[in-house]
Amino acid sequence: MSRLAATFSLLVALLLPQGAFAWNATGHQIVGSIADQLLTVNASRQVKLLLGVGLREAGPWLDCVKSVRKQPDGTLSYSPPKEDYDKPCKAFSNDHSAMIDYVGRNWVNCVYPEVPNTSANTGCHNTYHFDDVAVQRDRFDRNYVGTNDHDLVAAINAAIAVLLDRPAPPPFDIKSKREALFMLAHLVGDLGQPLHVAAPYLGPDGSLVDPDVTHTIDPSTETAGGNWIKDGASDNFHSEWDDNPKDLTDTAPQALVDAARALPPQTGAIEDWSVAWATDTIVVAKKAMAKVKYTQTGPRLWFIDFQDGHDAYFRDADQTKKDQYVKCGARLAAILNKVWP
Ligand SMILES: [Zn+2]
Repeated sequence: MSRLAATFSLLVALLLPQGAFAWNATGHQIVGSIADQLLTVNASRQVKLLLGVGLREAGPWLDCVKSVRKQPDGTLSYSPPKEDYDKPCKAFSNDHSAMIDYVGRNWVNCVYPEVPNTSANTGCHNTYHFDDVAVQRDRFDRNYVGTNDHDLVAAINAAIAVLLDRPAPPPFDIKSKREALFMLAHLVGDLGQPLHVAAPYLGPDGSLVDPDVTHTIDPSTETAGGNWIKDGASDNFHSEWDDNPKDLTDTAPQALVDAARALPPQTGAIEDWSVAWATDTIVVAKKAMAKVKYTQTGPRLWFIDFQDGHDAYFRDADQTKKDQYVKCGARLAAILNKVWP
């Protein structure tokens, strides 16, 4: 990465606190439950040995970890998440020490300072969940603004390295295959969420600006990966993409498992897969961010309008989410089957 790119990537990391959860817990459980059913006998046995649970239960772990918070005295402790998110995290309630240990080793190894007036949990490990590539790009490239060496693509590769008995590259501190597997069970899902890979960068009039061309980012027009874009009075655009389609429960229906099984097998080197998948998600994000209009009403406050109306937009979005779950489930299984054929 050029120094200029590094500088602007850092700036983006400084400016963009992502939302609490990518796909909500149900989305991660669906992805995991698809993968569980596509694993080889050996891979399935290794998952159970390392985690004690299947990938469906393991999917939310890396978001449960976000409830490890820094206290005023500098120590870390686990505070249960609010609302629905507490339920999938209860599976790990006997082992909060493992979460605190992971967070402690991954909190300060990159710069992700506190953003004023937000509740962002700003340890470095929170940046492992996303990239913010400008939606105008056609592919993922490490030189683009919104990427860095501790982003989602890098985190997936670091976890794969550990499963292959290689050291995790800095800044990642992954102490075991168990931890690497918890990371992958979650992050491969995040990589399919369009707003966790691509982002709209907006000018004051709501039109897209291109940070890779202008090499400037105006903090007053940031959207934080869509987290500062409101849809009506209370919804936010990013979290609407995190929400699962309402007709799905926390276990994938057979149709999604069958669709995942029918996808073409992964080819090429395993080290190149996460970049290829990020590129695929950027293409999906272009569609997700087409036919919308943004209006700024204040600092960190945008509103979105949908050209074909809200309901039509989210009917399409629900289908896209299901397609993405299918791809993510197949990808997660592909990694683990490669590691444990
Ligand atoms: Zn995540």
